[in-house]
Amino acid sequence: MDFELSDDLVALREMARRFAAEEIAPHARAWDRDGEIPMEAIRKLGELGFMGTLAPTELGGAELGYLGNAIVVEEIARQCGGTALMLAAHNGLCQGHILLSGSDEQKRKYIPKLASGEMIGSWCLTEPSCGSDAAALKTRAVLDGDEWVINGSKMFITNGHRAGVFVVTARTSDESKTKGISAFIVDRETKGLSTGIKEDKMGMRASDTVPVNFEDVRIPKESLCGELNMGFIDTLKVLERGRITIGALSVGLGRGALEEALSYGKQREQFGKPLTEHQTIQMMLADMAMEVEAARLMVHKAGILQDQGQATEIESAMCKLFASEIATKACLNGIQICGGYGYTKDIPIERLMRDAKLCEIGEGSSQVQRMIISRRLLDL
Ligand SMILES: Cc1cc2nc3c(=O)[nH]c(=O)nc-3n(C[C@H](O)[C@H](O)[C@H](O)COP(=O)(O)OP(=O)(O)OC[C@H]3O[C@@H](n4cnc5c(N)ncnc54)[C@H](O)[C@@H]3O)c2cc1C
Repeated sequence: MDFELSDDLVALREMARRFAAEEIAPHARAWDRDGEIPMEAIRKLGELGFMGTLAPTELGGAELGYLGNAIVVEEIARQCGGTALMLAAHNGLCQGHILLSGSDEQKRKYIPKLASGEMIGSWCLTEPSCGSDAAALKTRAVLDGDEWVINGSKMFITNGHRAGVFVVTARTSDESKTKGISAFIVDRETKGLSTGIKEDKMGMRASDTVPVNFEDVRIPKESLCGELNMGFIDTLKVLERGRITIGALSVGLGRGALEEALSYGKQREQFGKPLTEHQTIQMMLADMAMEVEAARLMVHKAGILQDQGQATEIESAMCKLFASEIATKACLNGIQICGGYGYTKDIPIERLMRDAKLCEIGEGSSQVQRMIISRRLLDL
């Protein structure tokens, strides 16, 4: 067991940290207010390889692996949760699904454009009537000659407003709930595909979230991504990996809360001395630091195991669950330490808190993670 990052990963972390501090932090408040990450910023993320963290180099990706991806996402989230969520959906979900089960032709067609940031990707699983019980989805794909015809609606789709391509799950058989779903790759300009207005969210506002509708959307037979009726099984694998990214995102937000509280607490004096010299505040900071460190270790462990080709259903659920809950807690305690100023937008900690709450809901809520862990514990 080696807790030291390799020289390459340390260099990657420093590059991501510098980029986030210089190119994201100064704008994060405006992006949160306006609900948009400028395309120029996405272009720069592409130049650094951050739009293709998981894609292989031969397809134009940076091939950083799950540990490298987690390191990048933590640094970006430290400054802007919404930008990190955009990356999580683009890299982990959309590209993750194509890389997992797409054909060589599909990978060659889509991955280079996605990995460079020329095109943004979305992943459509959730529907208006089903989220946690995702396999109950109603969107349907029917084969008509050489074409699939898709009808249905998806909800809460990250990046949907600007995505050039969507990976979409749809029911293709009624024989089995989980083994009757398939995944498809749908280009944005396909007739019948439309996106609704952006959700007016509490947090993660820089990242867009929209409904996506499919009305007699006709796509070539070859747009099937993976094996027929096995799309939900692949979806679980994509989520298993994606949850490591949400764990890393949470670590970045929790660390942000700690750093902001430390910085404020050192310069704010009450009762004749800095807040950080009051023992009660010191205890709060100590707990925040301990929990962020523990969460990071869990995330890195899951990332390393994925990079070794191992399954991480439990490690992913645990790191996502723990990291997201301690992030929200760290943000709330950070606001407490910053007092009235922490409750204003003058200090970014209130934004971090709004962003952190999403990590307890998206890619499987905390309740769903506990169900996954307890099912394994109880051998159910
Ligand atoms: C900002 C944002 C971005 C998102 N991005 C995407 C995306 O890119 N692609 C995508 O497909 N989806 C996306 N989602 C959807 C997200 O994954 C779902 O919101 C999430 O899975 C929860 O589903 P739900 O909102 O329908 O809640 P529900 O499933 O209705 O659950 C509501 C509450 O009930 C709890 N609950 C549900 N079932 C049980 C149970 N059996 N036992 C105990 N408690 C239970 C849940 O934990 C939750 O607290 C996004 C959501 C948001 C808010």
